[in-house]
Amino acid sequence: MCTTGECECGEIGYSVTEDGPIHVYACHCLNCQTRSGSAFGEHALVAASDFDCKGETVTHDRHCDGIDFQEVFCANCRTRIFNRNSAMPDMIFLRAGTLNDSQRLNPIAHIWTKRKQLWLLLPDGIPQFDESPTPEEFGQAVQAALRRGSDGI
Ligand SMILES: [Zn+2]
Ligand SMILES: [Zn+2]
Repeated sequence: MCTTGECECGEIGYSVTEDGPIHVYACHCLNCQTRSGSAFGEHALVAASDFDCKGETVTHDRHCDGIDFQEVFCANCRTRIFNRNSAMPDMIFLRAGTLNDSQRLNPIAHIWTKRKQLWLLLPDGIPQFDESPTPEEFGQAVQAALRRGSDGI
């Protein structure tokens, strides 16, 4: 399965090739709200080896709690395409709103819900976590989505 996305101006194009569907989670933390200027961030965790991004990028680097974080943007229009960090160097944290088919996204989990905006009502039956889930908890959320069968693109 191959899924594609791009930045606002089209200079950056990428593809994700995975065996299964791409699962997206919504993060309601303060950082995602501030960095996006919106209610929450939508991220998809994909293997770096399955991710192919073309076009000129610029990065914003920061260091927090012993981990190096890098945010990657289109050099022209400054759409943020993905994040990566030194704690999980083999993974890409894709900014899922840049996927071409983003209207079909349906988050499989909501994290940092203790900080979510008060107007936002989350759907029943989708796992919620006050803060960040453990990898095991996140894995269970993915398994639950696979059992439901209809999530992911
Ligand atoms: Zn662009
Ligand atoms: Zn967040």
